Amino acid sequence: MPQVDAKLNAFPVFVRVEGEAVAIVGGGEQALAKARLIEQSSAVLRIIAQNVEPDLLAFIAQSGASHIAAVYDASQLDGAVMVFAASGDDTLDRRVAADARRLGIPVNAVDRPELCDFFTPALVNRAPVAIAIGTEGAGPVLAQMLRSRIDRMLSPSFGRLAALAASFRTAAERLPKGNIRRRFWSDFFGGAPARAIEAGELSRAYEAATDLLLSNAPASGHIALVGAGPGAEDLLTLRAHRLLMEADVIVHDALVPEAVIAMGRRDAERLAVGKRKGCHTKSQAEINALLVELGRQGKRVVRLKSGDPLVFGRAGEEMAALRDAGIAYEVVPGVTAAFAAAADFELPLTLRGVSSSMVFTTGHDLKGNSLPDWAKLAISGATVAVYMGRSVAAEVAGRLIEAGLSPDTAVAVVENASLANRRRFHGTLADLPSLEARADLSGPVMTIIGDAVAGANFERSEPLAAHRVAGASVAAEGVQP
Ligand code: SAH
Repeated sequence: MPQVDAKLNAFPVFVRVEGEAVAIVGGGEQALAKARLIEQSSAVLRIIAQNVEPDLLAFIAQSGASHIAAVYDASQLDGAVMVFAASGDDTLDRRVAADARRLGIPVNAVDRPELCDFFTPALVNRAPVAIAIGTEGAGPVLAQMLRSRIDRMLSPSFGRLAALAASFRTAAERLPKGNIRRRFWSDFFGGAPARAIEAGELSRAYEAATDLLLSNAPASGHIALVGAGPGAEDLLTLRAHRLLMEADVIVHDALVPEAVIAMGRRDAERLAVGKRKGCHTKSQAEINALLVELGRQGKRVVRLKSGDPLVFGRAGEEMAALRDAGIAYEVVPGVTAAFAAAADFELPLTLRGVSSSMVFTTGHDLKGNSLPDWAKLAISGATVAVYMGRSVAAEVAGRLIEAGLSPDTAVAVVENASLANRRRFHGTLADLPSLEARADLSGPVMTIIGDAVAGANFERSEPLAAHRVAGASVAAEGVQP
């Protein structure tokens, strides 16, 4: 809530600079910083400096700015709409500021707020949209922090969308005022035109906007199958974050932590659809039907799945259902659990001269007589990441050893990869079966097997074998493990 009595001492405005001259006096770093800022506009840059440092010289050559290579004189400011005193020389900067003021040109003197008529903002540029952040010189670091936060929120193509909107302004004004017009714009910025722009398809965006204008039909829905990453909020992609903030409905699995879901739009509807081992809230068919139904209602849906949606995420079935129903969808990748676990263990998944291929498996297909292909790959040196592998740990270890993989092959296990409460375990294939009996592991577990695992950092991990021995002796004493 803004303080009522807090008044701005510098009021933000947007200055028309198209084709106008902006003069910068100075030939060094400060001048270059201002030149880079102004270059984001269509102003004509005029650099006034007798001696110019190489970086600025290169900038002048590349940007086509004009350069007055002479001793400073007030007449060089003629016709400019803005002046920057950025020479780094205090006396000269004062003179420039005084001259500019006398000529009636607003001036900014670098690092001299008392000489400034205006301040330059930290800028998020999505031309024609600009977001300017000012702190009245109090906190440039704060301004930059805000800038990068806002920058992340806005798609790089946001400017193109705004430009397209501008071209539809007149046409949209013919729509009846009120609800219908508002609906058009909200579908425009949140619906198919925005998505087409994001995908870089300008003509499709134009068509979609035209369709919206001509039809009174409600906007069609859209489902984004989004990878939430392994659990840590900051492993979410920027795209996932943006979609979460635009969603009407977030449909998520149980493995996606609350902190990640909380990054979604506050008033988005949230639907938990299971599935954790042993507690399926909804069947896959029910989830498919739900997504189709939400799409038909015109909702913008984020279907949030842990890790990457295309890795053991049953995205295949959901995409097929959406395709059959003619509902638009897209897929946003996420950091899969194997990658998060490897990072937690500093474990090279491929290792020069040791392992050059990698397998993603569940180990749940080891029941039959013949070895599945991935097991053969493991034997020939691939690094194997086992998803959902806890309950089949003994089976996986036993079958791989039986097939010829050495019992000494290195194994790394991570529970709750990427999260603060993660636990790391290391051992060999022979130790792996102990995983099944452990009651102390309640989070998701990733197992990585292979010679490349030997390259990991075991400083922060516990030996799997220790537990095996301890567990066995406890059991022998008749105590429940
Ligand atoms: N689509 C997900 C996998 C879903 S299957 C992905 O790409 O990561 C669920 C399995 O993923 C779990 O049984 C576990 O093996 C693994 N998993 C998911 N999150 C994990 C985490 N934070 N730490 C360890 N394993 C994880």
